[in-house]
Amino acid sequence: MRIGRVLYPIKALGPGERLGIWVQGCERSCEGCANPELQSMEGKEMPLPVLAAMCKAAIEDYGLKGITISGGEPMLQAGELAELLKELRPHCDDILLFTGYTRDELKRMDTDSVLENIDVLVDGVYIKERNRGEILRGSDNQVIHFLTDGSREKYEAYINENKKTVDEFIAPDGVVAVGIHPGETFQ
Ligand code: SF4
Repeated sequence: MRIGRVLYPIKALGPGERLGIWVQGCERSCEGCANPELQSMEGKEMPLPVLAAMCKAAIEDYGLKGITISGGEPMLQAGELAELLKELRPHCDDILLFTGYTRDELKRMDTDSVLENIDVLVDGVYIKERNRGEILRGSDNQVIHFLTDGSREKYEAYINENKKTVDEFIAPDGVVAVGIHPGETFQ
């Protein structure tokens, strides 16, 4: 599976301390994309068993409470992502996924095995002019779908706390800032 980065603990993208997985590759070129370096379809291929073992170890060792999957476009690798999620599901009951596709578009794609293994889906493409600096939504055309029992209450409480934050990680080539960035701040 092509993976751009795995970071933890992150607090800016969902309730509690979480594991963040960024999938490499996206066919869109949204103006103002927060992760343009993850658009290229070229990237490191990680064997699924290695990736799954690494994620499980991080969850167990750090007591992480959730997983957030972003990109890039996760649904371009839906088959491998579904396999990964089946491995991680027994270790995590809170999985949030961001996709640029709408839920209606996903119905015409082979993504059911991903959707049945996540709790919350944030869908829709990023539109720079509609960035309102919201928690979890890069732009206000995006919709938060609660797919499992209890996820709505948990995430609404998190959103209502309104603790906008950014997690920063030192990387070999600079700093990676994780979170929903108000457009002007990002620029
Ligand atoms: S869909 Fe997401 S990752 Fe892809 S270009 Fe748009 S903002 Fe960037």
